Amino acid sequence: MEDYMVRIIAKEANVRGLACITTNLVNGAAQRHAAAPAATVALGYGLTAAALLGASLKVQQRVAVKVEGDGPLQKMVIEADSRGRVRGYVAVPEVVVADPTDVAAALGRHGLLTVVKDLRMKGLYEGVVPLQTGELDRDLTAYLMQSEQVPSAVELGVRMAPGNILVEVAGGLLLQTLPNRQPTGLQTLTERLDDLPPIKELLHDGERPEDVLAALFAGIAYETLETFPLRFDCSCSWAWAERALVLLDRTDLETLIDEGQAVVDCHFCHERYIFGREALEMMLESRE
Ligand code: ZN
Repeated sequence: MEDYMVRIIAKEANVRGLACITTNLVNGAAQRHAAAPAATVALGYGLTAAALLGASLKVQQRVAVKVEGDGPLQKMVIEADSRGRVRGYVAVPEVVVADPTDVAAALGRHGLLTVVKDLRMKGLYEGVVPLQTGELDRDLTAYLMQSEQVPSAVELGVRMAPGNILVEVAGGLLLQTLPNRQPTGLQTLTERLDDLPPIKELLHDGERPEDVLAALFAGIAYETLETFPLRFDCSCSWAWAERALVLLDRTDLETLIDEGQAVVDCHFCHERYIFGREALEMMLESRE
């Protein structure tokens, strides 16, 4: 099954719903980062969470989710936009923990969850909450309530294939009360969500994101707004890498010229941009 997001709205129940499957983009990211199983699971949670937050934004808006915990993974940074482009990395991809499926053990149970939104207005919107559980879906639910004052329910799921190397299935779900409405509809849906098997098991059994939403919203009128593909997509480029070098001090640039080359490695996708001596000399000249 390809990765995609489904977005619905239930106007009478005052709830919007998002559900997605992210298996391929998580496996792709894990491969790029040579991630150990625990880091793969964490990336699965993070990439899915950011895809869900991104899909609730308007066109051209972006979101970044940063988790800095006291676990051995140290830090995870994920970015997504409203069109299903997602990228992310963890600080220690080679991390080893006793149970790789225990995302809280890898991330840590104490620390900070930061969400930065570029809403294409003046400045950035930033919200920070302390981690409460290290389980990203519960922490994100708390963040949405505390920082954005939007009653929400988030469920993320990552199921590893036997051998713990590849993700068998990853996906998630986000339910939110519509702005300025009573959260009564959400309460009913949250109770139903608790009664359903975990989303990773539903997806593993062949249910599609729209099937999971249909099961949750049974008997509640809703409308499907859109379905769109999700993919790992990095916005880095030669121009981006060059800007990183142009910002260096003159002496640092001269050192690189002496060394004969400069390598700019993108944290998000591990694309390497290599500039030779001549290119660096031109950059130095253009500064004068
Ligand atoms: Zn990149």
